[in-house]
Amino acid sequence: MKAIPALKDLEARLGSLDGKRILVRTDFNVPMEEGRITDDFRIRAALPTLQWLQERGATVVAASHLGRPKGTSDPKYSMDAVRQRLGELAPGVELLENLRYHAGEEGNDPTFVASLVDGIDGYVNDAFGASHRAHASIVGPPQHVPSAMGRLLQREVEVLLKLRNSPQRPFVAVLGGAKVSDKLGVIDALLTTVDALAIGGAMCFTFFAAQGRSIGDSLFEPDQVDTCKRLLDTATKPIHLPSDITGLDAAGNYATFGTRLPERAKGLDIGPGSAAEFGDVVMDARTVFWNGPMGMFEDDRFAAGTKTVAQAVADTKAFTVVGGGDSAAALAEFGLDDDVDHVSTGGGASLELLEHGDLPGLAALRENAA
Ligand code: AMP
Repeated sequence: MKAIPALKDLEARLGSLDGKRILVRTDFNVPMEEGRITDDFRIRAALPTLQWLQERGATVVAASHLGRPKGTSDPKYSMDAVRQRLGELAPGVELLENLRYHAGEEGNDPTFVASLVDGIDGYVNDAFGASHRAHASIVGPPQHVPSAMGRLLQREVEVLLKLRNSPQRPFVAVLGGAKVSDKLGVIDALLTTVDALAIGGAMCFTFFAAQGRSIGDSLFEPDQVDTCKRLLDTATKPIHLPSDITGLDAAGNYATFGTRLPERAKGLDIGPGSAAEFGDVVMDARTVFWNGPMGMFEDDRFAAGTKTVAQAVADTKAFTVVGGGDSAAALAEFGLDDDVDHVSTGGGASLELLEHGDLPGLAALRENAA
């Protein structure tokens, strides 16, 4: 298999970058509130690549999507605020308007690809968080101009493929969040590489249902019960499920339950016993991957499980990787984001790379390598 070209390979292929116009696909899909950026992490994460190109004399044109304008020029999703912040952090970098103003972006339309590479000498993909999508700006340009992965994309790929292919053991994955259906593929794939899996969040109730336990009115996915049952029956690695749950009782009062919930009760977080057990599993590991909150952490009453797991991920000596929006937001909220080895800029992309070992954006770079 061909290697994915890195920035140095692009420089070698173009002879020199001086005076060249380089299109950089970035992931500037930043959280916004009332037109203001609430966290510029994704812009800062792209700076090493942008600066590396500028230092070599390239004219850098960045392009990103923001939100879901669905192919129309909705001013709500304009890049103006991003352009202003980018101007402060990386003066001289041009920024195109929201890629998703054009239906051709998500439709991977060749005409839109042609307009993107018009006047462009080279292309760099540094948008890890969008590389699991076969969109025009991700898979199109490498077919037309010399292309490479940026530094951020390179780091993401190195870290996640190391987890997948050669982790230090024991390797433990902690998964949470709302939906099992989003994560079944990765659970299957992880079960072949991890030494243990711990499952919290609303996801655990579909597993409880598969074990025949009562779950009250907790969130679960009835159509995934059989799959969860199959996973529990066939897994050759331990799957840790919560041994206690906190939530609301039938009268709507805060309550702690065991693993069988009374009628009309709602489980909203893993309980203190489970949080301590999951924390121990993390402390004893040498590699940890964490994706998804352990409970409805946006409500302080149900943040404790997520906080205990986050603290263990921060404290453990293991190599720690946190994937995705909600877990990264939780870490930042608890002030622990500097205490993990790698916070992935892509939730869906990190799960898909762990599952498949490749992404459409990576394949496009590899297949069109010199
Ligand atoms: P996901 O996007 O699948 O990672 O899910 C993240 C969301 O799951 C967060 O907004 C949490 O509030 C929510 N969540 C986690 N645990 C629970 C639970 N037990 N009940 C309801 N929502 C939950």
